[in-house]
Amino acid sequence: MSTSAIPAAPERPLPTPTRESQPYWDGMREHKFQLQHCASCGKVRHYPRPVCPHCFSMESRWEEAPLGGKIHTWTVCHHPFNFFFKQAAPHVVALVDMDAGVRVNAPLRGIAETDIRIGRRVKLGFEPVTKEVTLPFFVAE
Ligand SMILES: [Zn+2]
Repeated sequence: MSTSAIPAAPERPLPTPTRESQPYWDGMREHKFQLQHCASCGKVRHYPRPVCPHCFSMESRWEEAPLGGKIHTWTVCHHPFNFFFKQAAPHVVALVDMDAGVRVNAPLRGIAETDIRIGRRVKLGFEPVTKEVTLPFFVAE
């Protein structure tokens, strides 16, 4: 006699904070957009990393940044790279030029595909997923 196993629901892939990125994820959890600034030359960078790409300093500080930005480009995802996202397909992912001077890649929600334009204003939102992890997304400003 055989029983058919019920497949487990796919788990949502989540980021694993590192020593460099922990302040960013702590900020997300507090609904703040925290960016890493070089303590030597002052330039802002994103994603978080240990060395400044401009002056190679390893010293940095974190500052809260504004949530607004403009769409640089976007794509409509029809084929999920992970089974978890199959239920959400098709969905839009945008690359946004933030007012703070960095580009951020995140899902874009609440704007019809036909209304998405390069240069359109959007703002960062925060989606608590677990007690530790809050993920960013974009909505119309
Ligand atoms: Zn620097």
